[in-house]
Amino acid sequence: MSLNEFELVDLYFKAQAQTSDSDVILGIGDDAALIQPPATGEVLAFSVDTLVADIHFHATDPAHAIGYKALAVNFSDLAAMGATPRYVLLALTLPTLDEAWLAEFCRGFFTLLKEHRAILIGGDITHGPLSITVQVTGTVPRTQALTRAGAHVGDVIYVTGTLGDAAAALTARGAQCGPLVQRLQYPTARINWGLALRGHAHAMIDISDGLLADLGHICEQSKVGARINVDRLPLSSVLRNEMDYASALNLALTGGDDYELCFTIAPTQADWLQQTAQTLNCPVQCIGEITAGSGIDLVTETGESWPEPTKSGYQHF
Ligand SMILES: [Mg+2]
Repeated sequence: MSLNEFELVDLYFKAQAQTSDSDVILGIGDDAALIQPPATGEVLAFSVDTLVADIHFHATDPAHAIGYKALAVNFSDLAAMGATPRYVLLALTLPTLDEAWLAEFCRGFFTLLKEHRAILIGGDITHGPLSITVQVTGTVPRTQALTRAGAHVGDVIYVTGTLGDAAAALTARGAQCGPLVQRLQYPTARINWGLALRGHAHAMIDISDGLLADLGHICEQSKVGARINVDRLPLSSVLRNEMDYASALNLALTGGDDYELCFTIAPTQADWLQQTAQTLNCPVQCIGEITAGSGIDLVTETGESWPEPTKSGYQHF
């Protein structure tokens, strides 16, 4: 006998959603969850993302990876605000009731949820084409929330980790490209960097649609321009081995799905950043500076201009 929606929610969501968080007055299992508002001086950060099969991921990807990534991309948005992940809502649309798939999906999802001590406070399962919607709520001190609008002329621009790996995984073939596929299927939300940059960074965004597209949002909303030294873009050794240098740079500029953070900060913070990178065990790299004006200039280490790549970020429509 197959389980109904309520039994499924109980079995796969509720059992793993138990919490000792005193702000959760009532968790999963009623008509709505009840949450105590945050302490004075803190604000709530909300974000929602939908992942549709064969648009945002392959329906044949491992269910464990799909569950992990559905949450990671949402946590990445909280990281980009400097917020701590707290509460999560999950709406799953499934074409068939494959309990083995669901169990694996939940294993990936709850692994990341528990890593950040966040709590699932509601879940819904419906029948239809495979699609996953996750809504996350975080908290951040009101004066320390990081937006896209705070970049100043003279700031330097940094990115965490390496760029272009996830995009390379879409075309890379062969035994050497396993780490690239890992980056595509299991992106790391840079929550720890987001928290560390509170009170330090001036503007921040997570790189979901490609560096040029996402840094472009910072420039527009901060009413500034940017100059990027393409020779400073952090490239993984796997990416470098997979293709020629110019192709790797273009993927680093335009490739989506890396979920690294891009932020602007005063140049005087360089030493603090390198110390913090050691503490967090995740590198950061200065890739350029904020300029007066608008738009993004690309230059090489020797000062020549670098041609703008044709594809500038993921276009949803
Ligand atoms: Mg984002």
